[in-house]
Amino acid sequence: MAKNILVVIEHEEGKIRRASLEGLATARMIAEGIGGRTVGVILGASAAELANEFASRGADEVYCLEAAQLGQYSPDLYRAPINALIKEIEAEWVLMGNTYNAQDLMPLLSSSFDAPVISDAVNLEIDGETVIFHRQPYDAKFNARVVDRGPAPHFASLQSGAFSADDLPQGHTGSVTLREAPLDGITVYREIEEIRAVGESTIDLSAAEIVVAGGRGLGSKENFDTLVGQLASTLGGAIGASRPVVDSEWLPHDHQIGSSGQVITPKLYVALGISGAIQHVVGIRGAQCIVAVNRDKDAPIFNEATYGIVGDVAEVIPELVKAIEEANAQ
Ligand SMILES: Cc1cc2nc3c(=O)[nH]c(=O)nc-3n(C[C@H](O)[C@H](O)[C@H](O)COP(=O)(O)OP(=O)(O)OC[C@H]3O[C@@H](n4cnc5c(N)ncnc54)[C@H](O)[C@@H]3O)c2cc1C
Repeated sequence: MAKNILVVIEHEEGKIRRASLEGLATARMIAEGIGGRTVGVILGASAAELANEFASRGADEVYCLEAAQLGQYSPDLYRAPINALIKEIEAEWVLMGNTYNAQDLMPLLSSSFDAPVISDAVNLEIDGETVIFHRQPYDAKFNARVVDRGPAPHFASLQSGAFSADDLPQGHTGSVTLREAPLDGITVYREIEEIRAVGESTIDLSAAEIVVAGGRGLGSKENFDTLVGQLASTLGGAIGASRPVVDSEWLPHDHQIGSSGQVITPKLYVALGISGAIQHVVGIRGAQCIVAVNRDKDAPIFNEATYGIVGDVAEVIPELVKAIEEANAQ
């Protein structure tokens, strides 16, 4: 029997989360490597349309488990139906993006099978039938190659942006199985009363294609707002920051990039007056192109940068803005 690689699909506001599509891309790599098939499971009050979409993006089969109580994520209500499905299809691997929900749900699922979770994986290799995930613990100071040598099912969560969903097919013909979610007899210990955005400016930098970020090198909140704001608006990008900027209250924490902020995977990342400390860099390694401006030619950010400009932000940023505006006008 082909081995089933199961992706637990997350969705919000009627959309499949990118982390789940990245999970599907990973599942397809594993399926190809060990000779398996890709399966998705989605829970919701009404999730058939999203199940069809997931099947069209490359899943061989998607189970859509519906119930009125599943309008939003619930660890108690998700656990039993997903575990039942894992047993039913004898899943070899269970995958999720390393989201907050995954950090909550994956240990709940895996503990039922007395199995570990390989969390926050950044890469994988396949050796015969063995899947080896790579992790970078301690703020990426180590590269660890991790194998779960126990029996299946195996569980892994995937770092945002580490596995690209860009090459998933469109129009794949996977099948969808619609079922009522088996929720009888489940005790709900935790009920979500309300989901509240953290402050008005809450932004999801992880979804932005262009991010312009500033660091302590901007010198003041006024400089930050003017210079970083100008370049971000010229490029049509979102604004990010290093931790000292947030600690100084120039910007709220939801703009912070790094190990204690957001992990971002934009097409273009511009780092202005940021030194490139490891805790910042782990948040930007998934960026396709990094441009750094720093007056210190030895700043570690230049080791990460695709393009580096040695200079003072106060001089370089207005020149960049002017050059981009001129190019846009042509
Ligand atoms: C547990 C822990 C978690 C952390 N989490 C994070 C995190 O999530 N995100 C994060 O960013 N940091 C985090 N940090 C902090 C991190 O270690 C660094 O201190 C921080 O990233 C440095 O921010 P910075 O580059 O803005 O400032 P600095 O390191 O002070 O660098 C400022 C840079 O600006 C340059 N500069 C100065 N003036 C100018 C100018 N006029 N023009 C051009 N360049 C100029 C300087 O040459 C320097 O390179 C964490 C630290 C710890 C211990």
